[in-house]
This record gives sequence, C-alpha cells and structure tokens, in this order.
Amino acid sequence: MELQEVVVKLERFGPNSLAEKWDNVGLLVEPSKPHLVRKLMITNDLTEAVLKESIAEKADMILSYHPPIFAPLKKLTNSSVKERILVSAIENRIAVYSPHTIYDSLKGGVTDWLASCLGEYTTQPVIPFFDESASGYYKLEMYISKDKQHNWSEVLNNYNKENSVQDIIVSDLVDPKGCVKYGITCSRSGMFQILDSYHEMFDRNDNLQITKLSSKPILGTGSGRICRLVEPVSLQILIAQVKKHLNLSSLRLAADFYKPLSKLIRTVAVVAGAGGSLLKGVKADLYLTGEMSHHDVLAAVASGTCVLLCDHTNTERGYLFNKLKLDLGSLLDNRIEIITSKVDGDPLAVI
Ligand SMILES: [Zn+2]
Repeated sequence: MELQEVVVKLERFGPNSLAEKWDNVGLLVEPSKPHLVRKLMITNDLTEAVLKESIAEKADMILSYHPPIFAPLKKLTNSSVKERILVSAIENRIAVYSPHTIYDSLKGGVTDWLASCLGEYTTQPVIPFFDESASGYYKLEMYISKDKQHNWSEVLNNYNKENSVQDIIVSDLVDPKGCVKYGITCSRSGMFQILDSYHEMFDRNDNLQITKLSSKPILGTGSGRICRLVEPVSLQILIAQVKKHLNLSSLRLAADFYKPLSKLIRTVAVVAGAGGSLLKGVKADLYLTGEMSHHDVLAAVASGTCVLLCDHTNTERGYLFNKLKLDLGSLLDNRIEIITSKVDGDPLAVI
C-alpha cells in the first residue's frame, strides 16, 4: 500500500487534532515518492536497536508511539543518537509515523486499554476533548437533592443512550443543603428535552445554569480517564488485576493508611505514561499510571489517594503490541504485514 494511503487511513483512525497542543505527531519521516509499504513495525520507542531491527526485518515503515523528533532539529549529523536514528531511517527508506497523545486521547486507545483491567465501571476523561470546529452545544449545571438523585440519574441515562447528550458528570461537589452538582453537556435539542424533564420533576429552577459552548465535546475522548467502579473492589484485588493485565510481577504502591490492601476502591484515575501533571488535584481513591515524581506522589497520598506506579512504557506497550496490532490489521485491510519490535522494552527493570 502506498505510504500516502496508509497515512490517510491512520489519520482517519486517530485524527491529529486529538493530540495535545505541545505534541509532535503524524508522519515525521517521509521517504521520497513512490514509497510502497509492505511491512510496518510497531514500537513504543524508536531506539538505535529498534531501527537496526527494522532494517534487518526489511520494514518500510515504523509506527513509533513516542515521537523520535520532538524538539526542533538544527542539523542531521552522526553526532547524536537522535540524529543518527533519523539519518539511518532516511538512508534505508523507512517512513516514521508517531501517534503518541492521539492514541492516549482516542476512545478505545491506550488509556482505555490500561483501564480495561479494572472490571465493570463507568468512565469519563479527566480533560474531555472538544472539537473546536463544531459549535451549538450547551452545558447545563444544577444541584439535585439526595432523595431525587436516583430518579434524575435514571432520566439522564435514558437521554445518554440517544446521542443528544454527550456527557453527564455527577461531581463530588455537595452544597450546604446536601445537594449534588450535575454537569450535562448536550446538543440544543437535547437541552430542550432535559429541560422538559427537569421542569416536570422540580418546581424551582433557581439553581439551574445554562452555558452555550463554542465547541463540541467528543464522547469518551480526551486526556486520562476517571473510572467509577460499579462495585467497590479492594486495593489488593485491583493490584492483582493490574499485574495480570500488564504482565508484571511487581508494581510500586504509595498509600498512607494502616493495612492499605484491604481498602475499598471506588474511583480510579488512569493516565498512561507519566501521570503527574494531569492527575494533579484529581479526586480519586487510586491513581493508576506509569510514573509520577516523588513530590506528586506525596501530595496525592496526603490528600487520601493511593498511587500505583507501573513504570512508564509498561502502561503503553501492551496496547500497541496487542490491541493496536489487531486494529491496524483490519484498518489496513490486511494488505500490510504488521510486526512488533522484539528489542523494544521498558528501560527500567526490577533486579
Ligand atoms: Zn509515554
């Protein structure tokens, strides 16, 4: 398949617009045309060893999850590893494509794959993705008393199944009267339906706030995930599930209470790779991520959140080598041989 066709299909699967603004994603190395892709190698990181492996494997393209070009380059010489990798890729006519935060944000991407070991849960992004090319969406915010919450959630869940409602967030915010804050993002028609139901159930609307949004949220897409478990699960069981999912014999846990393993977990905030900045201040019983700084871990534990660290790429590679490999097979009509690197691995090991 021609490289251009591969790239069009990849961008349809995960649009570049999903990437964080600071990221450098998409086609990063393009050999001169025509460039036929017969074999594509998936790797978490494009190291010199992985590049040598791809040359030996006669790959025409590498999908490197982390971008091998990030900071702007001023030269392409043999003086640094980064430059040597790029020079060698060009000389050997190997295209390089990097999806990085596109796949983190993607519904069913890296973050959802990482969270999938938690059992049954409802989920929402820590920071939802908004399509800035679309408008006409509204945010409704209201406080609902405890005795009416169940009925109101049922009404909203019915709308959620139809598509007029993009997102419902029941926050942990409780006002002095014990009412819980609901935030609902919906289309204009969805808003009128919800308002009808709201006025049927509640006589006063003095706590109702309506805001017109300038962009459209994309359901289930965005940075990180907050997962609310349907049934609370002990930390010990969750740790076992995470270890099995990531095929790891050990993880690092930070917690500030006696007998932490029996603690029941209801909410888990999940970030693949480095979770420190995104998880700052996020309310959850547990953070599940690859790495966090010492001070971020201390701050999380001080606010009552346990932290489970699995090392950076251990939270990413499983998605790439298992789910993505299968997804790309059907995306590219099984016309391209897709292989995964055998030498790519997390640089840290427990000894
Ligand atoms: Zn990463």
